[in-house]
Amino acid sequence: MERTKAMLLFGMFTAFLNTRAQDVIQVKPIIIVDPGHGGLDSGAIGANGLKEKELTLKIAQAIVHYNRTLLDNQYDIYLTRYMDTLISLGHRTKLAKVLNAKIFVSLHCNHADNRGTNGLEVYLFNGFVPKKSLTMAKAMDGYLQQQLGYRSRGVKRANFQVLRDNREVCPALLLELGFLSNEDEATHLEGKEKIRALGLAILMGIKKVLR
Ligand SMILES: [Zn+2]
Repeated sequence: MERTKAMLLFGMFTAFLNTRAQDVIQVKPIIIVDPGHGGLDSGAIGANGLKEKELTLKIAQAIVHYNRTLLDNQYDIYLTRYMDTLISLGHRTKLAKVLNAKIFVSLHCNHADNRGTNGLEVYLFNGFVPKKSLTMAKAMDGYLQQQLGYRSRGVKRANFQVLRDNREVCPALLLELGFLSNEDEATHLEGKEKIRALGLAILMGIKKVLR
């Protein structure tokens, strides 16, 4: 009798473990990609007429594309906007909290009065962030520099709302993907293939830092 009971309990326990294992397997890491600006807010505009809001959306779409075609939808990727619309900064960050995201990545392109200024920047919130976030930012910075051949301007800290609002939710990075005020970088961002390459590098960078 005791033995039967023990076997029954053991059976229930293994069934429970199997169910848990399936649960874990089925849950994909959630990534929020935030294409900066949109709608009335064009963001920076390049000398060649490129608009930051259009570039960030195209790069975000490339990230989604490569997650589907190369990574077999390894991640559940949500964009904060799918069209040319203006979404408030508060709404952009709420998504990460509601969905319990693993990482929030905001996409931007830079602008400077000095046309010679160039390179990539990775931003983190300038208040307290867990060490993990700093490690992720450095890894992303190194990876993008290595993959894209852009000059890195390093990991910087700033009090941007999308970073601040996410500080207790998940690691949040803001990427400045080249200067639209710089002729070389603005020209580089004109090509469809260059946009795709940026999207791919960011996706693989995320994959690397989420390990
Ligand atoms: Zn921007």
